[in-house]
Amino acid sequence: MNYFNYRNGILHAEEVSLDRLADDVGTPFYCYSTAILKHNFQILQDAVSDLDTIICFSIKANSNIAVIKTLATYGAGADVVSEGELRRAITAGIPSERIVFSGVGKTRRELEFAVDNNILQINVESESELEDLNAVALARGSFVKIGLRINPDINVNTHEKITTGRKENKFGIEWPRNLQILRNINDLPNIEVVSIAIHIGSQLTDLQFFRDSFKYLRNFVLMLRDEGIFIKRLDLGGGLGISYDDSTTIPTPVDYVEIIRENLGDLGCHLILEPGRMLVADAGLLVSRVIHVKQGTTRNFIICDAAMNDLVRPAMYEAYHEILPVIKPAVGHKKCLTDVVGPICESSDTFAKQRLLPPFVRNDLLVFVTTGAYGSSMASTYNSRQLIPEVLVKKNQFSIVRTRPTYENMLMMESFPPWL
Ligand SMILES: *Cc1c(COP(=O)(O)O)cnc(C)c1O
Repeated sequence: MNYFNYRNGILHAEEVSLDRLADDVGTPFYCYSTAILKHNFQILQDAVSDLDTIICFSIKANSNIAVIKTLATYGAGADVVSEGELRRAITAGIPSERIVFSGVGKTRRELEFAVDNNILQINVESESELEDLNAVALARGSFVKIGLRINPDINVNTHEKITTGRKENKFGIEWPRNLQILRNINDLPNIEVVSIAIHIGSQLTDLQFFRDSFKYLRNFVLMLRDEGIFIKRLDLGGGLGISYDDSTTIPTPVDYVEIIRENLGDLGCHLILEPGRMLVADAGLLVSRVIHVKQGTTRNFIICDAAMNDLVRPAMYEAYHEILPVIKPAVGHKKCLTDVVGPICESSDTFAKQRLLPPFVRNDLLVFVTTGAYGSSMASTYNSRQLIPEVLVKKNQFSIVRTRPTYENMLMMESFPPWL
C-alpha cells in the first residue's frame, strides 16, 4: 500500500501536494500519512485478533503527540522509556492501563511518576531498580505491577548499536539471577510480578531471532510454572524490521505473529507487543530543498537544507534512505552518481554517497523516504539549527503538528551568569 505517489508529476502525501506543502510550511519538514499509520496498525491488529494482545506503540520511534493520538484512536497503547514519553502518551489520550514503562535507567522520580499514574506495568531491568520501586511503592502504600525484563543472551544480526538481547548489552536480567529474583519476590510485599518482558533488538529482518527468543521465553515460563510461579502476561518487545531498500525480504507482520502463535499461543497468557519502527517508518517522509549543487573534482554534491541533526540515522547507523525528487524528472533523463549532504560542519553529515540520482538543481525539492521512525524523535539542534516542523496529512487535509521554534524560543532557554 503506498499513499506517497506522484500525481501529475508531483509527489503527493495522500491527496496533498508536497510542492504546495513545502511552500506553506517551509523546508525542511517531516510529513506523515494518517492512512499509512492506520494501515500499518490494522495489519498487525488483524494478525493478533485471535490472541489476547495489547499493541503498545513504542513511542520513542516517533513521539509526536498527533502521531501517538492517531494510533491511539485505532486502539494502540504505549511503550514509554522516560517520564517525558509517559507524559506524551497521557497527553495523547492513551489510557494509563495501556501504558508500559521500559528502560534500564529510570530515576526515582520517574518511578514515582509512573506509580502515581497507575500504569499497566513497569518493566524492571535490575535488582537495584526493583529495590527503588519497592521503596516508592511502600512510601505510597500502593502495589506496583511489574514486568521483569530478562536477557536471553541472543545475538542478532542487526546494527551493533541496536542489539539489546546479548549478555554484553546493558538490558534485562540474566539467568539465573532472574530466577532468584522471582523466587524471592515475596520479600518485596508491594511488588507484584505480572509479566516477563523480552526485547532483543531493532530492525530485525530474520524471524529466526524471534523464534529463538520466544522459545527461550516459553521455556522460562514453563520452568517458572514448575516452581509454582505463574506469569499471566508476556511482553514480547518490538524490533520487527522494515524494508528500507527493497533488497532484503522482510517478514510480514502476519509471519511475525505466526511465530508468536507457534511458540506462545498455547500458554494462556495475555500478550503485549511493543512495535515502534514497523508502525511508523514508512508513514513518514523528510522533505528538503536543494541549497547548492557543487561539482568537486571527483564527486558531485547536492547540499540540501536537511542535515544529520534532523535525521541522524545515516550518520549513526550507516542507514540507507531512498531519495526521490518531488517533481518527477523528465522521461529519458540521465542519472548521475551524487553525494547528498547537509550543511553541518562535519563529514558524517552525509545522507548518501555515490548514489545514482536524477539531476537536481538549486531549489529543487527532494524527499528522504521511510523516515517516520527514529527521524524527528532523534533530532537535535546541533549547529544551532531549529528543530523542524512535523506535518500530519489526512486525505486532502494537512496540519502542522509541531511548529518550527523561533530563534528567540531557542535562545530563551539560556542566560548569562551574574558575573558577565
Ligand atoms: C525501542 C524499543 C521497542 C521498539 O523497537 P522497534 O525496533 O522500533 O520496534 C520496543 N520495546 C523496547 C523495550 C524498546 O526499547
